[in-house]
Amino acid sequence: MKLIDSHTHLYLPDFDEDRDAVIARANALGIDTFLLPAIGASYTSRMEDLKKAYPNQMHLMTGLHPTHVKENYEEELDHVEELLKSQTRVAVGEIGIDLYWDRSFLPQQQIAFDRQIQWAKDHDLPIVIHCRDAFKEVFDVLAGHRGPKLKGIFHCFTGTQADAQQALDCNLLLGIGGVVTFKNGKIDQYIADIPLKHLVLETDAPYLAPTPYRGKRNESAYLYEVVKRLAELYQTTPEIIAAQTTQNLINCFDLGEKK
Ligand SMILES: [Zn+2]
Repeated sequence: MKLIDSHTHLYLPDFDEDRDAVIARANALGIDTFLLPAIGASYTSRMEDLKKAYPNQMHLMTGLHPTHVKENYEEELDHVEELLKSQTRVAVGEIGIDLYWDRSFLPQQQIAFDRQIQWAKDHDLPIVIHCRDAFKEVFDVLAGHRGPKLKGIFHCFTGTQADAQQALDCNLLLGIGGVVTFKNGKIDQYIADIPLKHLVLETDAPYLAPTPYRGKRNESAYLYEVVKRLAELYQTTPEIIAAQTTQNLINCFDLGEKK
Protein backbone atom coordinates (compact mmCIF):
# COMPACT_ATOMS: atom_id res chain seq x y z
CA MET A 1 0.00 0.00 0.00
CA LYS A 2 1.37 3.39 -0.94
CA LEU A 3 0.35 6.46 1.01
CA ILE A 4 1.21 10.13 0.87
CA ASP A 5 1.15 12.33 3.94
CA SER A 6 -0.26 15.49 2.39
CA HIS A 7 0.35 17.63 5.47
CA THR A 8 3.16 17.18 7.97
CA HIS A 9 5.32 19.64 9.88
CA LEU A 10 8.24 17.20 10.13
CA TYR A 11 10.66 20.12 10.15
CA LEU A 12 9.49 21.42 13.55
CA PRO A 13 11.70 21.03 16.65
CA ASP A 14 9.28 18.34 17.93
CA PHE A 15 11.16 15.93 15.63
CA ASP A 16 14.72 17.11 16.24
CA GLU A 17 15.58 14.13 18.45
CA ASP A 18 14.46 11.33 16.16
CA ARG A 19 13.46 12.72 12.75
CA ASP A 20 15.30 10.04 10.75
CA ALA A 21 13.66 7.27 12.78
CA VAL A 22 10.23 8.83 12.24
CA ILE A 23 10.83 8.90 8.47
CA ALA A 24 12.16 5.33 8.52
CA ARG A 25 9.02 4.11 10.31
CA ALA A 26 6.86 5.76 7.68
CA ASN A 27 8.98 4.39 4.82
CA ALA A 28 8.69 0.88 6.23
CA LEU A 29 4.91 1.22 5.86
CA GLY A 30 5.01 2.49 2.27
CA ILE A 31 4.77 6.19 3.08
CA ASP A 32 7.59 7.83 1.13
CA THR A 33 6.11 11.13 0.00
CA PHE A 34 5.66 14.01 2.44
CA LEU A 35 4.16 17.42 1.75
CA LEU A 36 5.47 20.11 4.08
CA PRO A 37 3.24 23.16 4.59
CA ALA A 38 4.92 26.41 5.49
CA ILE A 39 4.07 28.60 8.50
CA GLY A 40 6.30 31.63 8.18
CA ALA A 41 9.77 32.80 7.14
CA SER A 42 11.42 31.70 10.38
CA TYR A 43 10.98 28.03 9.40
CA THR A 44 12.23 28.22 5.82
CA SER A 45 15.79 27.09 6.55
CA ARG A 46 14.54 24.10 8.58
CA MET A 47 12.29 23.09 5.68
CA GLU A 48 15.10 23.42 3.17
CA ASP A 49 17.48 21.38 5.34
CA LEU A 50 14.96 18.54 5.41
CA LYS A 51 14.53 18.75 1.64
CA LYS A 52 18.31 18.50 1.25
CA ALA A 53 18.43 15.39 3.39
CA TYR A 54 15.52 13.68 1.58
CA PRO A 55 15.27 15.37 -1.82
CA ASN A 56 12.95 12.83 -3.43
CA GLN A 57 10.59 12.37 -0.50
CA MET A 58 10.03 15.92 0.70
CA HIS A 59 7.93 18.49 -1.16
CA LEU A 60 7.90 22.03 0.15
CA MET A 61 5.14 24.60 0.14
CA THR A 62 5.42 28.31 0.73
CA GLY A 63 2.85 30.40 2.54
CA LEU A 64 2.04 32.56 5.51
CA HIS A 65 -0.08 30.75 8.10
CA PRO A 66 -3.00 32.88 9.36
CA THR A 67 -1.88 32.71 12.99
CA HIS A 68 1.41 34.26 11.87
CA VAL A 69 -0.23 37.24 10.20
CA LYS A 70 0.93 40.07 12.48
CA GLU A 71 2.26 43.63 12.16
CA ASN A 72 5.04 42.49 9.81
CA TYR A 73 2.80 40.53 7.46
CA GLU A 74 3.84 42.49 4.36
CA GLU A 75 7.44 41.48 4.96
CA GLU A 76 6.37 37.86 5.43
CA LEU A 77 4.37 37.97 2.21
CA ASP A 78 7.42 39.29 0.33
CA HIS A 79 9.25 36.17 1.49
CA VAL A 80 6.43 33.92 0.24
CA GLU A 81 6.49 35.64 -3.14
CA GLU A 82 10.27 35.34 -3.34
CA LEU A 83 10.10 31.58 -2.80
CA LEU A 84 7.37 31.25 -5.42
CA LYS A 85 9.69 32.86 -7.95
CA SER A 86 12.29 30.18 -7.20
CA GLN A 87 9.85 27.57 -8.62
CA THR A 88 10.81 25.05 -5.98
CA ARG A 89 7.46 24.94 -4.20
CA VAL A 90 4.60 22.54 -4.92
CA ALA A 91 1.77 24.55 -3.34
CA VAL A 92 0.86 27.74 -1.50
CA GLY A 93 0.05 26.80 2.08
CA GLU A 94 -0.93 26.83 4.64
CA ILE A 95 -3.00 29.91 4.17
CA GLY A 96 -6.43 30.93 5.40
CA ILE A 97 -8.16 32.47 8.38
CA ASP A 98 -7.98 31.53 12.06
CA LEU A 99 -10.22 33.34 14.51
CA TYR A 100 -9.78 30.88 17.35
CA TRP A 101 -6.63 32.38 18.84
CA ASP A 102 -6.92 36.03 17.92
CA ARG A 103 -9.47 38.11 16.00
CA SER A 104 -7.53 41.38 16.02
CA PHE A 105 -5.73 40.74 12.71
CA LEU A 106 -8.78 39.61 10.77
CA PRO A 107 -8.50 42.33 8.07
CA GLN A 108 -4.82 41.51 7.55
CA GLN A 109 -5.60 37.78 7.49
CA GLN A 110 -8.17 38.41 4.78
CA ILE A 111 -5.70 40.44 2.70
CA ALA A 112 -2.94 37.84 3.10
CA PHE A 113 -5.27 34.95 2.23
CA ASP A 114 -6.65 36.71 -0.83
CA ARG A 115 -3.25 37.74 -2.15
CA GLN A 116 -1.73 34.28 -1.68
CA ILE A 117 -4.61 32.59 -3.51
CA GLN A 118 -4.01 34.94 -6.42
CA TRP A 119 -0.30 34.07 -6.46
CA ALA A 120 -1.12 30.36 -6.46
CA LYS A 121 -3.39 30.85 -9.46
CA ASP A 122 -0.75 32.94 -11.24
CA HIS A 123 1.80 30.14 -10.74
CA ASP A 124 -0.71 27.39 -11.48
CA LEU A 125 -0.24 25.85 -8.03
CA PRO A 126 -2.72 24.33 -5.58
CA ILE A 127 -3.49 26.03 -2.26
CA VAL A 128 -3.68 24.42 1.18
CA ILE A 129 -6.23 26.09 3.42
CA HIS A 130 -6.17 26.37 7.20
CA CYS A 131 -9.53 27.38 8.66
CA ARG A 132 -10.41 27.59 12.32
CA ASP A 133 -13.64 29.18 13.56
CA ALA A 134 -13.79 31.05 10.27
CA PHE A 135 -15.75 29.08 7.66
CA LYS A 136 -17.83 32.07 6.62
CA GLU A 137 -14.78 34.32 6.32
CA VAL A 138 -12.83 31.71 4.36
CA PHE A 139 -15.65 31.07 1.89
CA ASP A 140 -16.15 34.83 1.45
CA VAL A 141 -12.56 35.19 0.24
CA LEU A 142 -12.75 32.01 -1.88
CA ALA A 143 -15.89 33.33 -3.60
CA GLY A 144 -13.76 35.91 -5.40
CA HIS A 145 -11.47 33.21 -6.81
CA ARG A 146 -13.77 30.52 -8.13
CA GLY A 147 -12.89 29.13 -11.52
CA PRO A 148 -10.74 26.50 -13.18
CA LYS A 149 -7.47 27.87 -11.74
CA LEU A 150 -8.61 27.41 -8.15
CA LYS A 151 -7.57 24.03 -6.75
CA GLY A 152 -6.10 22.54 -3.62
CA ILE A 153 -6.89 21.09 -0.22
CA PHE A 154 -9.11 22.20 2.62
CA HIS A 155 -6.71 20.97 5.27
CA CYS A 156 -7.90 19.30 8.49
CA PHE A 157 -11.49 19.58 7.42
CA THR A 158 -13.75 19.89 10.48
CA GLY A 159 -16.83 21.64 9.11
CA THR A 160 -20.41 20.58 8.60
CA GLN A 161 -21.68 18.66 5.62
CA ALA A 162 -22.82 21.97 4.09
CA ASP A 163 -19.32 23.39 4.57
CA ALA A 164 -17.90 20.29 2.90
CA GLN A 165 -20.18 20.81 -0.09
CA GLN A 166 -19.05 24.43 -0.36
CA ALA A 167 -15.42 23.31 -0.35
CA LEU A 168 -16.11 20.80 -3.13
CA ASP A 169 -17.89 23.52 -5.10
CA CYS A 170 -14.64 25.52 -4.92
CA ASN A 171 -12.77 22.57 -6.49
CA LEU A 172 -11.05 21.72 -3.19
CA LEU A 173 -10.19 18.32 -1.78
CA LEU A 174 -10.91 17.58 1.87
CA GLY A 175 -7.84 16.83 3.99
CA ILE A 176 -8.78 14.04 6.41
CA GLY A 177 -6.64 13.13 9.42
CA GLY A 178 -6.85 12.12 13.06
CA VAL A 179 -10.12 13.98 13.69
CA VAL A 180 -12.08 11.31 11.79
CA THR A 181 -11.00 8.77 14.44
CA PHE A 182 -12.18 10.92 17.38
CA LYS A 183 -15.42 10.02 19.15
CA ASN A 184 -16.51 13.68 19.11
CA GLY A 185 -14.92 14.53 15.75
CA LYS A 186 -18.34 14.92 14.06
CA ILE A 187 -17.15 14.48 10.46
CA ASP A 188 -17.42 10.69 10.87
CA GLN A 189 -21.20 11.19 10.91
CA TYR A 190 -21.46 12.27 7.26
CA ILE A 191 -18.09 11.77 5.58
CA ALA A 192 -19.11 8.50 3.88
CA ASP A 193 -21.78 10.45 1.94
CA ILE A 194 -18.97 12.32 0.19
CA PRO A 195 -17.46 10.44 -2.77
CA LEU A 196 -13.94 9.19 -2.04
CA LYS A 197 -12.55 11.05 -5.03
CA HIS A 198 -12.73 14.25 -2.95
CA LEU A 199 -10.56 13.06 -0.03
CA VAL A 200 -6.84 13.17 0.68
CA LEU A 201 -5.01 11.90 3.77
CA GLU A 202 -2.91 13.95 6.16
CA THR A 203 -1.49 13.81 9.66
CA ASP A 204 -0.85 17.49 10.51
CA ALA A 205 2.01 16.01 12.57
CA PRO A 206 3.07 16.69 15.29
CA TYR A 207 -0.56 17.67 16.02
CA LEU A 208 -3.86 15.78 16.08
CA ALA A 209 -2.67 12.20 16.52
CA PRO A 210 -5.43 9.69 15.71
CA THR A 211 -6.97 7.32 18.22
CA PRO A 212 -5.36 5.30 19.89
CA TYR A 213 -2.45 7.78 19.97
CA ARG A 214 -4.64 10.80 20.70
CA GLY A 215 -2.79 13.39 22.79
CA LYS A 216 0.65 12.09 21.82
CA ARG A 217 2.98 13.47 19.16
CA ASN A 218 1.60 12.56 15.76
CA GLU A 219 3.71 11.05 12.95
CA SER A 220 3.12 9.84 9.40
CA ALA A 221 3.17 6.14 10.32
CA TYR A 222 -0.09 6.73 12.22
CA LEU A 223 -1.81 7.54 8.92
CA TYR A 224 -2.91 3.90 8.86
CA GLU A 225 -5.29 4.55 11.75
CA VAL A 226 -7.02 7.12 9.54
CA VAL A 227 -7.11 4.67 6.62
CA LYS A 228 -8.62 1.95 8.82
CA ARG A 229 -11.31 4.29 10.16
CA LEU A 230 -12.21 5.53 6.68
CA ALA A 231 -12.43 1.92 5.45
CA GLU A 232 -14.98 1.23 8.22
CA LEU A 233 -16.99 4.35 7.44
CA TYR A 234 -17.01 3.75 3.68
CA GLN A 235 -17.50 0.01 4.18
CA THR A 236 -14.59 -0.79 1.90
CA THR A 237 -11.01 -2.01 2.20
CA PRO A 238 -7.99 -0.04 3.44
CA GLU A 239 -6.37 -0.77 0.06
CA ILE A 240 -9.14 1.05 -1.80
CA ILE A 241 -9.01 4.02 0.59
CA ALA A 242 -5.24 4.24 0.14
CA ALA A 243 -5.25 3.89 -3.64
CA GLN A 244 -8.04 6.40 -4.25
CA THR A 245 -6.80 9.11 -1.87
CA THR A 246 -3.25 8.79 -3.18
CA GLN A 247 -4.48 9.15 -6.74
CA ASN A 248 -6.55 12.21 -5.78
CA LEU A 249 -3.46 13.93 -4.45
CA ILE A 250 -1.36 13.05 -7.49
CA ASN A 251 -4.07 14.46 -9.76
CA CYS A 252 -4.09 17.77 -7.88
CA PHE A 253 -0.35 18.15 -7.22
CA ASP A 254 2.42 18.10 -9.75
CA LEU A 255 4.95 16.29 -7.57
CA GLY A 256 7.26 14.95 -10.24
CA GLU A 257 8.67 18.09 -11.78
CA LYS A 258 9.68 20.19 -8.79
CA LYS A 259 13.24 20.03 -7.60
ZN1 LIG B 1 -0.58 22.41 9.49
